[in-house]
Amino acid sequence: MHSNKFDNLRESLGAYLDVQTTLSVLGWDQEVHMPPKGAARRGRQLATLSGIAHRMLTNPEVGKAIAELEDDDTLSHDARALLKEARYEYDRATKLPEAFVTKLAEEQSKAYEVWVQARRMNDFHLFQPNLETIVELLRQKADYYGYEDTPYDALLSDYERGMTTARLREIFSGLREKQSALVERIVASGNAPECAWMDQEWDETKLWEITMRALTEMGFDFDAGRQDKSVHPFTTNFGLKDVRVTTRFEPRDPFSALTGSLHEGGHALYEQGYLESDERTFLADAPSLGIHESQSRLWENLVGRSRPFWKRYGPVYREAFPEQLKGVSDDDLFRAINRVAPSLIRVEADECTYNLHVILRFEIEVAIIEGDLSVTEVPEAWNAKMKDLLGLEVPSDDKGCLQDIHWSHASMGYFPTYALGNLYAAHLGEKIREELTDLDAQIESGDFTPLLAWLREHIHHIGRRKLAQDIIEEATGPEATAEPFMRYLNSKYGEIYGL
Ligand code: ZN
Repeated sequence: MHSNKFDNLRESLGAYLDVQTTLSVLGWDQEVHMPPKGAARRGRQLATLSGIAHRMLTNPEVGKAIAELEDDDTLSHDARALLKEARYEYDRATKLPEAFVTKLAEEQSKAYEVWVQARRMNDFHLFQPNLETIVELLRQKADYYGYEDTPYDALLSDYERGMTTARLREIFSGLREKQSALVERIVASGNAPECAWMDQEWDETKLWEITMRALTEMGFDFDAGRQDKSVHPFTTNFGLKDVRVTTRFEPRDPFSALTGSLHEGGHALYEQGYLESDERTFLADAPSLGIHESQSRLWENLVGRSRPFWKRYGPVYREAFPEQLKGVSDDDLFRAINRVAPSLIRVEADECTYNLHVILRFEIEVAIIEGDLSVTEVPEAWNAKMKDLLGLEVPSDDKGCLQDIHWSHASMGYFPTYALGNLYAAHLGEKIREELTDLDAQIESGDFTPLLAWLREHIHHIGRRKLAQDIIEEATGPEATAEPFMRYLNSKYGEIYGL
């Protein structure tokens, strides 16, 4: 039985989420359609609406209703789950004083502008004072949130609730050496796939059609979403029935539009897959960025970079590009999309090197936040780790510590979720292979229904009822570690590179 009080609370939080999803519409439009001169006014609109949303959530009446309902033992299981998340959101929003939130937003927008300039001019010193301010504010934020072990735990909880720095250190320390060693063996093997044919013109209309076909086959519901183009691919939703993805084209690259769509499509299937009865509540959401990323990486890598996938999409590509792909086989395509090359830039990294970029950032962030590394020392630390992890010399900071937007946005604790996404995906992949014994044949025939149904049942429908680590553990058995991911890499790349 729902009390009136519960219905009222649910309604006011629903109204709060209406404002949040309206912010998402504005944010999506900003990336997809907005003309450049619209930026200043759009910024004001976003700030005004964010303020309204914050006041709606932190309204003392909301806090009072939550507290009263916590004593009500007649509430249903689902009502309790929602109340727990309402408590979590309310506490987090009220822990940060309004003056602090305003200050952080101001410093963030200054830092972002300076970072854009510093990266263009390849001058870390320009950005250094802004980064120092951001770090100071992030330490304060951690103090407001509270923590037991290290302030980095508090920052992590914004992105990967329940995860700790200690646990990440443990997971990453195993991964660090094993992945580095694998990359070394790959480079030393001299068996790099022949990819010269990739360096041609690829018609965007045809690539677009392939991405639409792939999204459709995956099970993306185009009556409840759409795909557009943007500079950086992303996924956002305005509700369960309106999920937006974007993709991009890179010149002389036949794969980037497709991998962008598969990746964002994986995120989107998650967002179209929450329970309808959870619509307009906190439960229709992922419990962490890491588990969200597990869905995108699963579709992009475990499916989209698999051999059976290329048995299906090889002919599709050759039909679209008969001239460019004369003499290029399914296997050539499969090997080309899985080529491994240590590079300086995270967003261009392949499956074998990607986590190493994350580990580098994680180690630097923890050291900065814990006070073991000063902001001045960041470029030097970055370059030393790049040499250590990937064997590369960093020629300039724009290809080193200035490459990512995250720090200028005051996001520290975010990067680890990308690596966790890979690890969670590998855990899920092993379990799925055990249960869907025909998976390869299904992928080759474009029948993704059983895979999507499995993900719906074990991941999507749960929404935010559980923490990410618990969802993965319950779906697969053991606690998440680096082992399944290393097994996956070793078996796939061992074969491709003849190790
Ligand atoms: Zn993603």
